[in-house]
Amino acid sequence: MARRKKIYEGKAKTLYEGPEPGTIVQYFKDDATAFNAEKHAIIEGKGVLNNLLSEYFFTGLNNVGVPTHFMRRLNMREQLVRACEIIPLEVVVRNYAAGSMSKRLGIAEGTQLPRPIIEYYYKDDKLSDPMVTEEHIAAFGWASQQDMDDVVSLALRVNDFLSGVMFGVGIRLIDFKIEIGRVWENDFARLIVADEISPDSMRLWDVETGAKLDKDVFRRDLGSLTDAYTEVARRLGVMPKGQGIPGKPTLIN
Ligand code: UDP
Repeated sequence: MARRKKIYEGKAKTLYEGPEPGTIVQYFKDDATAFNAEKHAIIEGKGVLNNLLSEYFFTGLNNVGVPTHFMRRLNMREQLVRACEIIPLEVVVRNYAAGSMSKRLGIAEGTQLPRPIIEYYYKDDKLSDPMVTEEHIAAFGWASQQDMDDVVSLALRVNDFLSGVMFGVGIRLIDFKIEIGRVWENDFARLIVADEISPDSMRLWDVETGAKLDKDVFRRDLGSLTDAYTEVARRLGVMPKGQGIPGKPTLIN
Protein backbone atom coordinates (compact mmCIF):
# COMPACT_ATOMS: atom_id res chain seq x y z
CA MET A 1 0.00 0.00 0.00
CA ALA A 2 1.31 3.46 -0.85
CA ARG A 3 2.46 5.44 2.13
CA ARG A 4 0.73 8.78 2.38
CA LYS A 5 2.63 11.97 2.92
CA LYS A 6 2.61 13.56 6.34
CA ILE A 7 2.33 17.34 6.04
CA TYR A 8 2.42 18.37 9.68
CA GLU A 9 2.28 16.85 13.15
CA GLY A 10 0.80 19.02 15.87
CA LYS A 11 0.06 18.39 19.54
CA ALA A 12 -3.37 16.82 19.04
CA LYS A 13 -3.62 16.17 15.30
CA THR A 14 -1.55 14.97 12.35
CA LEU A 15 -2.21 16.26 8.84
CA TYR A 16 -1.69 14.13 5.72
CA GLU A 17 -1.95 14.97 2.07
CA GLY A 18 -5.52 14.27 0.94
CA PRO A 19 -6.64 12.04 -1.94
CA GLU A 20 -7.35 15.00 -4.28
CA PRO A 21 -5.38 18.22 -4.72
CA GLY A 22 -6.53 20.89 -2.29
CA THR A 23 -7.61 18.38 0.34
CA ILE A 24 -6.05 17.31 3.63
CA VAL A 25 -6.71 14.40 5.96
CA GLN A 26 -6.85 15.42 9.64
CA TYR A 27 -6.01 12.56 12.02
CA PHE A 28 -7.10 13.10 15.65
CA LYS A 29 -4.58 11.77 18.17
CA ASP A 30 -5.21 10.78 21.79
CA ASP A 31 -2.56 13.19 23.07
CA ALA A 32 -3.67 15.82 25.56
CA THR A 33 -1.40 18.76 26.29
CA ALA A 34 -1.72 21.85 28.44
CA PHE A 35 0.41 24.79 29.55
CA ASN A 36 2.16 24.91 26.19
CA ALA A 37 2.80 21.14 26.25
CA GLU A 38 4.47 21.16 29.71
CA LYS A 39 1.71 18.76 30.78
CA HIS A 40 1.13 15.80 28.47
CA ALA A 41 -0.85 12.58 28.60
CA ILE A 42 -2.39 10.00 26.31
CA ILE A 43 -6.13 9.86 26.94
CA GLU A 44 -7.49 6.79 25.23
CA GLY A 45 -10.43 7.60 23.00
CA LYS A 46 -10.04 11.40 23.07
CA GLY A 47 -9.16 11.53 19.36
CA VAL A 48 -12.27 9.57 18.42
CA LEU A 49 -14.49 11.86 20.49
CA ASN A 50 -12.95 15.05 19.12
CA ASN A 51 -13.23 13.77 15.55
CA LEU A 52 -16.95 13.06 16.06
CA LEU A 53 -17.64 16.30 17.95
CA SER A 54 -15.69 18.41 15.47
CA GLU A 55 -17.65 16.79 12.63
CA TYR A 56 -20.88 17.62 14.46
CA PHE A 57 -20.04 21.31 14.98
CA PHE A 58 -18.57 21.88 11.50
CA THR A 59 -21.50 20.14 9.79
CA GLY A 60 -23.88 22.37 11.74
CA LEU A 61 -21.93 25.48 10.79
CA ASN A 62 -21.88 24.47 7.12
CA ASN A 63 -25.64 23.89 7.31
CA VAL A 64 -26.36 27.38 8.63
CA GLY A 65 -24.12 28.98 6.03
CA VAL A 66 -20.93 29.58 8.00
CA PRO A 67 -18.13 28.51 5.63
CA THR A 68 -15.71 25.92 7.04
CA HIS A 69 -12.95 23.65 5.81
CA PHE A 70 -14.86 20.49 6.76
CA MET A 71 -15.75 18.13 3.90
CA ARG A 72 -16.54 14.77 5.49
CA ARG A 73 -15.53 12.32 8.17
CA LEU A 74 -13.56 9.40 6.77
CA ASN A 75 -13.41 7.06 9.76
CA MET A 76 -13.29 7.10 13.55
CA ARG A 77 -10.11 9.18 13.70
CA GLU A 78 -9.91 11.03 10.40
CA GLN A 79 -11.74 13.66 8.46
CA LEU A 80 -11.26 15.15 5.01
CA VAL A 81 -10.90 18.92 5.00
CA ARG A 82 -10.19 21.60 2.47
CA ALA A 83 -6.59 22.82 2.37
CA CYS A 84 -6.26 26.49 3.30
CA GLU A 85 -3.64 29.02 4.38
CA ILE A 86 -4.04 29.31 8.13
CA ILE A 87 -3.96 32.89 9.42
CA PRO A 88 -1.41 32.64 12.26
CA LEU A 89 -3.89 33.69 14.95
CA GLU A 90 -5.86 31.95 17.65
CA VAL A 91 -9.18 33.75 17.72
CA VAL A 92 -10.73 33.49 21.18
CA VAL A 93 -14.34 34.48 21.88
CA ARG A 94 -15.46 34.85 25.48
CA ASN A 95 -18.99 35.04 26.90
CA TYR A 96 -18.02 34.59 30.55
CA ALA A 97 -14.71 35.36 32.24
CA ALA A 98 -12.44 32.33 32.80
CA GLY A 99 -8.87 31.13 32.43
CA SER A 100 -6.30 33.66 31.30
CA MET A 101 -8.81 36.53 31.20
CA SER A 102 -9.81 36.01 34.82
CA LYS A 103 -6.14 35.90 35.81
CA ARG A 104 -5.10 38.90 33.76
CA LEU A 105 -7.98 41.18 34.73
CA GLY A 106 -8.85 39.81 38.17
CA ILE A 107 -12.43 38.95 37.22
CA ALA A 108 -13.98 35.93 38.97
CA GLU A 109 -14.39 32.90 36.73
CA GLY A 110 -17.98 32.58 35.55
CA THR A 111 -18.73 36.33 35.55
CA GLN A 112 -20.96 37.07 32.55
CA LEU A 113 -19.38 39.59 30.20
CA PRO A 114 -21.44 42.59 29.00
CA ARG A 115 -21.00 41.33 25.44
CA PRO A 116 -18.88 38.70 23.69
CA ILE A 117 -15.23 39.73 23.72
CA ILE A 118 -12.87 38.67 20.94
CA GLU A 119 -9.13 38.33 21.56
CA TYR A 120 -6.25 37.41 19.27
CA TYR A 121 -3.17 35.37 20.10
CA TYR A 122 -0.21 35.01 17.73
CA LYS A 123 0.31 31.31 16.96
CA ASP A 124 3.89 30.62 18.02
CA ASP A 125 4.61 27.85 20.52
CA LYS A 126 8.13 29.16 21.16
CA LEU A 127 6.59 32.43 22.37
CA SER A 128 3.68 30.65 24.14
CA ASP A 129 1.09 32.24 21.81
CA PRO A 130 1.28 35.87 23.02
CA MET A 131 -1.82 38.05 22.95
CA VAL A 132 -1.75 40.63 20.14
CA THR A 133 -3.97 43.49 19.01
CA GLU A 134 -5.33 44.36 15.57
CA GLU A 135 -2.48 46.90 15.37
CA HIS A 136 0.11 44.10 15.47
CA ILE A 137 -1.90 42.01 13.02
CA ALA A 138 -2.10 44.86 10.48
CA ALA A 139 1.47 46.11 10.99
CA PHE A 140 3.04 42.67 10.59
CA GLY A 141 0.76 41.78 7.67
CA TRP A 142 -0.75 38.65 9.24
CA ALA A 143 -4.18 39.68 7.95
CA SER A 144 -5.67 42.71 6.19
CA GLN A 145 -8.32 45.02 7.62
CA GLN A 146 -10.89 43.36 5.32
CA ASP A 147 -9.76 39.95 6.59
CA MET A 148 -10.18 41.11 10.19
CA ASP A 149 -13.72 42.36 9.51
CA ASP A 150 -14.50 38.89 8.15
CA VAL A 151 -12.75 37.20 11.10
CA VAL A 152 -14.92 39.14 13.58
CA SER A 153 -18.07 38.31 11.66
CA LEU A 154 -17.17 34.59 11.46
CA ALA A 155 -16.16 34.46 15.14
CA LEU A 156 -19.48 35.99 16.27
CA ARG A 157 -21.53 33.70 14.01
CA VAL A 158 -19.69 30.66 15.36
CA ASN A 159 -20.30 31.96 18.89
CA ASP A 160 -24.05 32.36 18.35
CA PHE A 161 -24.31 28.93 16.76
CA LEU A 162 -22.25 27.10 19.40
CA SER A 163 -23.85 28.96 22.33
CA GLY A 164 -27.33 28.02 21.08
CA VAL A 165 -26.49 24.39 20.36
CA MET A 166 -24.80 23.94 23.73
CA PHE A 167 -27.49 25.74 25.73
CA GLY A 168 -30.04 23.42 24.10
CA VAL A 169 -28.36 20.49 25.87
CA GLY A 170 -27.87 22.23 29.21
CA ILE A 171 -24.30 23.41 28.66
CA ARG A 172 -23.01 26.98 28.94
CA LEU A 173 -20.40 28.02 26.39
CA ILE A 174 -17.93 30.03 28.46
CA ASP A 175 -15.32 30.65 25.74
CA PHE A 176 -13.69 28.98 22.76
CA LYS A 177 -10.84 29.26 20.28
CA ILE A 178 -11.06 28.96 16.51
CA GLU A 179 -8.60 29.25 13.67
CA ILE A 180 -9.38 30.83 10.34
CA GLY A 181 -8.01 29.87 6.93
CA ARG A 182 -7.85 31.54 3.56
CA VAL A 183 -8.90 29.77 0.36
CA TRP A 184 -8.52 31.08 -3.17
CA GLU A 185 -11.38 30.98 -5.64
CA ASN A 186 -10.77 32.56 -9.07
CA ASP A 187 -8.16 34.98 -7.72
CA PHE A 188 -10.41 35.99 -4.81
CA ALA A 189 -9.57 35.08 -1.23
CA ARG A 190 -12.32 33.87 1.08
CA LEU A 191 -12.04 33.12 4.79
CA ILE A 192 -13.32 29.89 6.30
CA VAL A 193 -13.34 28.35 9.77
CA ALA A 194 -10.60 25.69 9.98
CA ASP A 195 -8.72 23.44 12.45
CA GLU A 196 -11.06 21.78 14.98
CA ILE A 197 -13.94 22.68 17.26
CA SER A 198 -14.03 20.33 20.25
CA PRO A 199 -13.98 20.38 24.06
CA ASP A 200 -10.18 20.74 23.69
CA SER A 201 -10.74 24.27 22.42
CA MET A 202 -13.84 25.35 24.37
CA ARG A 203 -14.87 25.85 27.97
CA LEU A 204 -18.16 24.10 28.63
CA TRP A 205 -19.94 24.23 31.99
CA ASP A 206 -23.06 22.30 32.92
CA VAL A 207 -25.85 24.88 33.28
CA GLU A 208 -27.28 23.24 36.43
CA THR A 209 -24.21 22.12 38.35
CA GLY A 210 -21.41 24.20 36.83
CA ALA A 211 -19.43 20.98 36.27
CA LYS A 212 -16.64 21.39 33.74
CA LEU A 213 -17.02 19.31 30.57
CA ASP A 214 -13.89 20.46 28.71
CA LYS A 215 -10.09 20.34 28.74
CA ASP A 216 -9.94 22.13 32.12
CA VAL A 217 -10.74 18.66 33.56
CA PHE A 218 -7.26 17.67 32.35
CA ARG A 219 -5.53 21.03 32.97
CA ARG A 220 -6.79 21.15 36.59
CA ASP A 221 -6.90 17.38 37.39
CA LEU A 222 -10.66 17.36 37.96
CA GLY A 223 -11.36 13.75 36.94
CA SER A 224 -11.78 11.75 33.76
CA LEU A 225 -11.47 13.74 30.55
CA THR A 226 -12.99 10.90 28.53
CA ASP A 227 -16.06 10.87 30.78
CA ALA A 228 -16.50 14.64 30.35
CA TYR A 229 -16.18 14.55 26.53
CA THR A 230 -18.39 11.45 26.34
CA GLU A 231 -21.06 13.33 28.28
CA VAL A 232 -20.94 16.22 25.78
CA ALA A 233 -21.16 13.76 22.86
CA ARG A 234 -24.01 11.86 24.50
CA ARG A 235 -26.06 15.02 25.12
CA LEU A 236 -25.59 16.15 21.53
CA GLY A 237 -26.66 12.74 20.23
CA VAL A 238 -23.27 12.21 18.64
CA MET A 239 -23.03 8.88 20.45
CA PRO A 240 -26.09 6.69 20.84
CA LYS A 241 -27.37 6.56 24.44
CA GLY A 242 -25.85 3.92 26.66
CA GLN A 243 -22.79 3.47 24.48
CA GLY A 244 -19.60 3.23 26.43
CA ILE A 245 -15.95 3.73 25.91
CA PRO A 246 -14.88 5.49 22.75
CA GLY A 247 -11.82 4.22 20.97
CA LYS A 248 -13.70 0.99 20.37
CA PRO A 249 -15.17 1.65 16.93
CA THR A 250 -17.71 -1.13 17.21
CA LEU A 251 -19.58 0.88 19.81
CA ILE A 252 -20.31 3.81 17.51
CA ASN A 253 -21.84 3.54 14.07
N1 UDP B 1 -7.52 27.74 23.90
C1 UDP B 1 -7.14 26.81 22.97
N2 UDP B 1 -5.81 26.70 22.63
C2 UDP B 1 -4.85 27.49 23.18
C3 UDP B 1 -5.25 28.45 24.14
C4 UDP B 1 -6.58 28.55 24.48
O1 UDP B 1 -7.97 26.08 22.43
O2 UDP B 1 -3.67 27.36 22.81
C5 UDP B 1 -8.95 27.87 24.27
C6 UDP B 1 -9.19 27.39 25.69
O3 UDP B 1 -9.56 26.03 25.70
C7 UDP B 1 -10.34 28.27 26.12
C8 UDP B 1 -10.15 29.56 25.34
O4 UDP B 1 -9.31 29.23 24.23
O5 UDP B 1 -11.58 27.69 25.72
C9 UDP B 1 -9.52 30.67 26.15
O6 UDP B 1 -8.35 30.20 26.76
P1 UDP B 1 -7.53 31.11 27.80
O7 UDP B 1 -6.99 32.31 27.09
O8 UDP B 1 -8.37 31.37 28.98
O9 UDP B 1 -6.24 30.26 28.12
P2 UDP B 1 -5.99 29.10 29.18
O10 UDP B 1 -6.51 29.53 30.48
O11 UDP B 1 -6.68 27.92 28.59
O12 UDP B 1 -4.49 28.98 29.13
